[in-house]
Amino acid sequence: MNINYLLNSGFLIRDEKILLVFDDFEDPAGIIDAAYDKGDFDRLYIFATHAHFDHFGTHIRAYAPKVTRYIFSSDIKRTKRVKIFPSPKITYMKRYVEWQDDAIKVRSFDSTDVGIAFHVELPTGRKIFHAGDFNWWHWDDDTPDNIELADKAFKRQMKRLDGLEADIAFFPVDGRLGIWQEAGPKDFVARTKVKSFVAMHRVDYPRWEPSPAFLSAAKNIPIWSPATPGEGRIFDGENFLEATD
Ligand SMILES: [Zn+2]
Repeated sequence: MNINYLLNSGFLIRDEKILLVFDDFEDPAGIIDAAYDKGDFDRLYIFATHAHFDHFGTHIRAYAPKVTRYIFSSDIKRTKRVKIFPSPKITYMKRYVEWQDDAIKVRSFDSTDVGIAFHVELPTGRKIFHAGDFNWWHWDDDTPDNIELADKAFKRQMKRLDGLEADIAFFPVDGRLGIWQEAGPKDFVARTKVKSFVAMHRVDYPRWEPSPAFLSAAKNIPIWSPATPGEGRIFDGENFLEATD
């Protein structure tokens, strides 16, 4: 599989002739434009985990002619911005539901912020998990009550993710959380069976250097923390290789 980083939690994933786009709110390197214009794909699915401006942008409307399906979290349905999209091409998903067509199978999970997380199974059997804004959000300047609520929400949702399998998992490692930035991702990798980990949601922060505690929880799976829009990797099932073109 080929992966390109767009920005924030935005990624393009190519698996053979299928393209999956997640949370493309901005794409400064023009990755999706280039793939779209090249056109060597059979299917193009565009996902948005929730309506926040840093996850969902209206410029993806321009891809509608070749889009197989827009798969949006149901909170997006209530926005004005979505009205410009062709509604027959949109599937809205609430938490804990499934949707499939003759190529991919999608399951949704809850978030601890707005919206949902996606688990996608491809025709090759490969699986992708994209967390959206699901994370153990721990803000030191928050009230004790809010911190406790966020802890509980994360733990409740993690029970649903126990043992989850995915070839690639995209998960926030948000630098703004300071010493807490690894809390959510560490629990996630310890409790799931993901084969690789991609850090996201860390705009304006340098590449993340996983701590020894994280590496041990992750049982040495390959890790990629992209920092520059457009940068890419190939995941060969075992490692992230530098993409050459
Ligand atoms: Zn976000």
